[in-house]
Amino acid sequence: MSLTKYNSKRNFEDTPEPSGKKGKDMGKLTFVVQRHHASHLHYDFRLELGGTLKSWAVPKGPSLNPKDKRLAMMVEDHPISYATFEGDIPAGNYGAGHVDVWDHGTYEPIDEDGEVISPNKFAQSLHAGNMKFRMHGKHLKGDFALVNMKKDEKTWLLIKHKDKYATDEPYNSEDYAKKSSLAYTAERNKDKVVKKK
Ligand code: MN
Repeated sequence: MSLTKYNSKRNFEDTPEPSGKKGKDMGKLTFVVQRHHASHLHYDFRLELGGTLKSWAVPKGPSLNPKDKRLAMMVEDHPISYATFEGDIPAGNYGAGHVDVWDHGTYEPIDEDGEVISPNKFAQSLHAGNMKFRMHGKHLKGDFALVNMKKDEKTWLLIKHKDKYATDEPYNSEDYAKKSSLAYTAERNKDKVVKKK
């Protein structure tokens, strides 16, 4: 797991994002979900593993409804320090737009039976394309899976398991977005309308 790709895409003299250095595994594994309004609005779902954040771009955002199988496109590993990044990536830079933390917390890798497994075992499940984990966030709680579509290594699905945190109701992550995120989007959409005239 390397941050070479992350660093090569970015000019750190021109973006406030952190430059990539590998961290150490520090006991509990962290996760973050960032709402990223770049050229397209999406949610970046990141799990700490092996000293970096394994990352997927989820166009529709995560869901607590097990019927929603949310497309998750694997992207380059991000540094652990990215987990607290919020702000504006200036125009002309990779991923230009606004980033806010939508949810964060810790997670535990688990196996088919829901038993906690080691990060090493979890790394194997990443390579096998079938990851299960238990989330302890503000919005995201309980067991989830990330399943590779086997179409290619980048295309995955993010799925909530049925448990006491799951819902049958329609779930829209936008309903839980911070005011600052929504304000940015409203402002940008307003600009789009003006430009069309
Ligand atoms: Mn992104």
